[in-house]
Amino acid sequence: MTISNGGSVDLRSDTLTRPTAAMRRAMAEALVGDDVYREDPTVNALEERVAELFGHEAALFVPSGTMGNQIGLRLVCEPGQEVLGDADAHVLTYEMGAAAALFGLSSRTVVSEGGRLSADQLIAQVRPHGDWHLTATAAIAVENTHNRGGGLVQPLAELERLFEWSRTAGVNVHLDGARVFNASVASGVPLSTYGRLADTASVCLSKGLGAPVGSVLVAGAERIAAARLWRKRLGGGMRQVGVLAAAAAYALGHHLDRLAEDHEHARLLAERLGVDPATVETNMVVVDDVPAPAVAEAARAQGVLVGQVSARRVRLVTHLDVDRAGVEHAAKVLTQVIGDLAGR
Ligand SMILES: *Cc1c(COP(=O)(O)O)cnc(C)c1O
Repeated sequence: MTISNGGSVDLRSDTLTRPTAAMRRAMAEALVGDDVYREDPTVNALEERVAELFGHEAALFVPSGTMGNQIGLRLVCEPGQEVLGDADAHVLTYEMGAAAALFGLSSRTVVSEGGRLSADQLIAQVRPHGDWHLTATAAIAVENTHNRGGGLVQPLAELERLFEWSRTAGVNVHLDGARVFNASVASGVPLSTYGRLADTASVCLSKGLGAPVGSVLVAGAERIAAARLWRKRLGGGMRQVGVLAAAAAYALGHHLDRLAEDHEHARLLAERLGVDPATVETNMVVVDDVPAPAVAEAARAQGVLVGQVSARRVRLVTHLDVDRAGVEHAAKVLTQVIGDLAGR
């Protein structure tokens, strides 16, 4: 059994992976230069590769998914205009109000069914440009897979319908693709298809792919040129950052297909815990109606770490640092812990 952080099976998040020995070697050997001067060959190569994967002209390496998302939104939304998204969207829930605090972007939300995208529901809320009464909707944010939706993969037909409609309405679509790699592996939909259905997209190398740091924003060349200025303005201009881009490139090259294993592990966990397998599409298992703090504490005492989403909801995320034996161990501990707490 692979022992994860601190000797535990850590299912709190897929951000908790640590770079493997081979990844560290790739980092140590990376060719580097000053990336603010655009002279880091490893960063340049990574940006080109990710742009190509998603079928866009250009890309920008950024320190975090939050920075990728917020710059992405700023590129397609002017101060005083609004971003429309679902009420549980990461960009509007977990990014510290950045769109408003940094850029003066207004936001408008719809309450979705467990994060599932409904094009009609969003379209119905879009406010037109050029009306002096209304805050214009400039951008729609979609999230795939959906984090608070328990890792659900957005239906391709809805993404297509929304994007086609957006062309006629002059509205841009931003994809929060922190886990779009999981979506692609689970659905078989190519990354380029997901890329084609967004004007700007932020994708994370530091989630399931296992890089220690880094996200990439993809868009058209002109937008990425503007994004480069925003990144600098936000203090995200990094220097010999090829050491990190090398980790990201290694992750893309070696850890993409194996996401299927994480998905398999999540299904296995669900099965053992009696969670409806239909709710497990990728690498997350949501366990509802349990006393979350008590479950987390009792499981921790036995070396299993889980995420607490709310007082009655626990989240388990499978990843690179949790192998089959770790999953079996976690299933055993959690079954016992949840059973004991229910029996009290
Ligand atoms: C993790 C995550 C992000 C970005 O998070 P950072 O910690 O800023 O890298 C964005 N969107 C979703 C859905 C995420 O899960």
